[in-house]
Amino acid sequence: LVPRLQPFTSTIFAEMTALAVRAGAVNLGQGFPDTDGPAGMLAAAQEAIATGINQYPPGPGRPELRAAIAEQRARYGTRFDPDTEILVTVGATEAIAATLLALIDSGDEVILFEPYYDSYAASVALAGGQRRVVALVEEPSGRFGLDVDALRAAVTPRTKAILVNTPHNPTGTVLTRAELTAIAQVCQEHDLLAITDEVYEDLLFDDREHVPLGSLPGMAERTLTISSAGKSFNCTGWKIGWVCGPAELVAAVRAAKQFLTFVGGAPFQPAVAHALRSESAWVADLRASLADKRTRLSAGLAEAGFGVRAAEGTYFVCADVRPLGFTDGLEFCRALPDKIGVAAVPVQVFTDNPDRWRHIVRFAFCKRDEVLDEAISRLHRLR
Ligand code: PMP
Ligand code: GLN
Repeated sequence: LVPRLQPFTSTIFAEMTALAVRAGAVNLGQGFPDTDGPAGMLAAAQEAIATGINQYPPGPGRPELRAAIAEQRARYGTRFDPDTEILVTVGATEAIAATLLALIDSGDEVILFEPYYDSYAASVALAGGQRRVVALVEEPSGRFGLDVDALRAAVTPRTKAILVNTPHNPTGTVLTRAELTAIAQVCQEHDLLAITDEVYEDLLFDDREHVPLGSLPGMAERTLTISSAGKSFNCTGWKIGWVCGPAELVAAVRAAKQFLTFVGGAPFQPAVAHALRSESAWVADLRASLADKRTRLSAGLAEAGFGVRAAEGTYFVCADVRPLGFTDGLEFCRALPDKIGVAAVPVQVFTDNPDRWRHIVRFAFCKRDEVLDEAISRLHRLR
C-alpha cells in the first residue's frame, strides 16, 4: 500500500460492525436503518428491472433523475441545469472522491471540520492533497458549533477548498445560517471552493431549517453541492448520489468520475427520481419518527449514566463516557459488544486530535423502537 493510504486500511464502521455481529450485539455503531424506504420507490426499482433498465445508464445519469434532482434543489432557491450542472454518482462517497480528485492538486490544502466523516481524509489523501483540520467546539448547550476564528486561522496560501457537512455526522449539529454565512465569507475573501456534503439534508429536528451553503449570496459559482438518496429514503445500499454545481466544475468532476465507476445503479435511478418527486410525505414521517427516536435514545443514554450531547439532525447522538468511569471511547467501543451486547463508534477516530475527543462516542438511532429499547436496557448494565 502506498504511504499516503497507509493510515486508511480499515474503517471503524467495518471494525465495529464485525464486533457487533460476532457478539450478537445491537448495532448502534454503523449508521443504517433497519426498515425499508417508501413502498412506491421499492416498486419503481422492481419495475425498472422488470422492464429492462439494466444496462449502462448515460454517463451523467438518467435524465429523469437529473430532472428530479434539479426540481428538488429548487426548493432551496438554487437552480441547476440538469444537462450540464448535475452529475449522478455512486453514492455521496464517490461524489466526494471524484470532486477532490478532479479539483485538488498535489499539495493543495482542504479544510475539514473535525470530527470529520472518515471518507474525507482518505479522499483528500487519494488526491494527493493535505487536510487542515478545524475542530467544532462544544457549546454550553451540548451542541458542537463553528469556531470562526479557528477557521480563519486555518486558511493558508495553499488552501483550495473547504468541505462542509451539515447536518453533521457524527455530532448531529445543524449549522445555522449565521455559521454558514461566516464560512461563505471566508470562501469569498480567499477565493476558495466550497464542497458540501448534505446527505442528511432531510433529517433535522425541532423545526430546524437546512441551509445549503451554495444558496447563500456569491456562493453558487464556487460551490459543489453533494447529496444522496441513502439517508432520505432508507436505501443506504443503493448508492445513488449526486453532485450539483457550475457546469465547468461539474464537467471536471465528471472527468474523474468516469474512470472510477463510469456509471452505476441503472434501475435504482428511476426509483430515486420517483422518490424525490413523490415521496415527500414519507420523508416528513421519517423525520418525525427520527425526532422521537432521538429523544428516546438520548433519554435512555442519560438514564444509563452517559453525558448526552445535543442531536439537532442526522440519525446520530454523541455521548460522554466519563460519567460512567471510562476515559477512552475507542477502548470503550471495542469492549462494549462483548461486555453488554451493544455497539457504538468512538468519535476520536474521525479527528486529528484524538485527545480532544477521546471521551465521546456516537450512537445511531435509525432503528426500530424495540431495538433502541433493548439497547437502552443493556446499556443500563454499565453502572
Ligand atoms: N457523508 C456522510 C456525512 C455520511 O454519513 C455518509 C453515509 N455513511 C456518506 C457521506 C456516504 O453517503 P453514500 O452512502 O451516499 O455514499
Ligand atoms: N454513514 C454511515 C455512518 O456514518 C456508515 C458509513 C459506512 O459504513 N461507511 O455510520
